[in-house]
Amino acid sequence: MGISSTLHIGFDDTDSQKGMCTTFLAYKIVEYLKKQGSEFLDFPRLIRFNPNIPWKTRGNGAVSLKIKTNNPTKIKNKIKNFISKYSDTKNGANPGLVFYEQKTIPSNFTEFSELALWQLINRNQAKKFALKNNLEIFYIGNGQGLVGAIGAIGYQFHDHTLELLSYRKPSKFGKERKISSQSVKTMQKKTFPYTFNSFDNKKSKVLITPHGPDPVFYGVRGEKVDSLLSATKILKTKEKLAGHMIFKSNQGTNDHLKNTFTKSTLKPFASGIITGIVLCDPKIEKGGHVFFSMNCNGDELQCAVYKETGISSIASNLIKGDKICVGGGMRKASKIYPRILNLEFIDVVNLKKNTVKSNPICKNCNKSMKSKGQNQGYQCIKCGKISKNKTNLEIPRKIQTKMYIPDVSAHRHLSRPLTRLGRLNRKSKFDESTSWFSVYEN
Ligand SMILES: [Zn+2]
Repeated sequence: MGISSTLHIGFDDTDSQKGMCTTFLAYKIVEYLKKQGSEFLDFPRLIRFNPNIPWKTRGNGAVSLKIKTNNPTKIKNKIKNFISKYSDTKNGANPGLVFYEQKTIPSNFTEFSELALWQLINRNQAKKFALKNNLEIFYIGNGQGLVGAIGAIGYQFHDHTLELLSYRKPSKFGKERKISSQSVKTMQKKTFPYTFNSFDNKKSKVLITPHGPDPVFYGVRGEKVDSLLSATKILKTKEKLAGHMIFKSNQGTNDHLKNTFTKSTLKPFASGIITGIVLCDPKIEKGGHVFFSMNCNGDELQCAVYKETGISSIASNLIKGDKICVGGGMRKASKIYPRILNLEFIDVVNLKKNTVKSNPICKNCNKSMKSKGQNQGYQCIKCGKISKNKTNLEIPRKIQTKMYIPDVSAHRHLSRPLTRLGRLNRKSKFDESTSWFSVYEN
């Protein structure tokens, strides 16, 4: 046995639309590392990157682990085998694996990671980074997974959430997930505000179970280990599950929207926020999607708000002159549409008074005066009072100066939910003795 060393392990893009899941691979690797007697220095980290890039796997999530081990060489070889064996390369996965054997992470790792949160980083940039920094890398296919693998190691938390993911037994993969929706509703109520986005009360819809063939049965998102563990005790499922693992994550933090767009960063697939003045009254198109343009520091920016977000009705009530701050992802121009920002939230900063010109009201009779003909003024037909000009009538606005975010069902992994607005979690201390990882008996 050699001297124990700190090893960071990052991997990404092991799954495809058709199956597997990077978090499940992490669970299998952790199970192996525990058997080997590795010491864990932190929760497994599940880092979601820019959700608006075109070639993302389902959630664009990468995983990293930080351990102490006496036998790094053996462990690296074994993990390479895990990645080769369990990645869904047949269905388009391009897995990347990175090892970094140092106690602390240099700041250029973190810078790389921060860019991957909102920009389009291509695999060649990742390969160059690996070469320049002498990283041990391993990849299959085109190596796209290296971006997330490096990013997950370099990521530094400023706020975080936890997610408890439970896994199914292999015999159940691909079968329907049966869970009592009442139990999910109860769980959400009892653990509020320490869990979030579990149940959509408006649509009576369970939000913790995925629908694909992957090995995850459910994922409960929240703030504290105890709350997640007690949440799982309230849930009632029809099948015996294989085990669970708690990840520390940037989900629910709006991490991809930290970037403030400038003229030069408003590029296709970039995510961020920008403030501006609404240039014209919004247009509602077929299907209920809303389109409008904004003036952002003298440049015109096209915006789209899709019906599914649940905030299209807010957007349709904007008028020319409103000041808003919005966030989302830039879509590439197509034949029909120009480059456009797909909105993920609308923060109304200032509402313009909505007035229309109308015939004056007679102060004596409280009745609308009639026009006497072009440029002839107005007269009350009851008392004969005369007025020269039209008056401004104020129409009450249907929206307020506040933050509007999508319905929970339309949330992305990174979307900050209502319960987390204005709230940061900085203190989930990792305690190896808690039940952050568990393989259930039988
Ligand atoms: Zn009158």
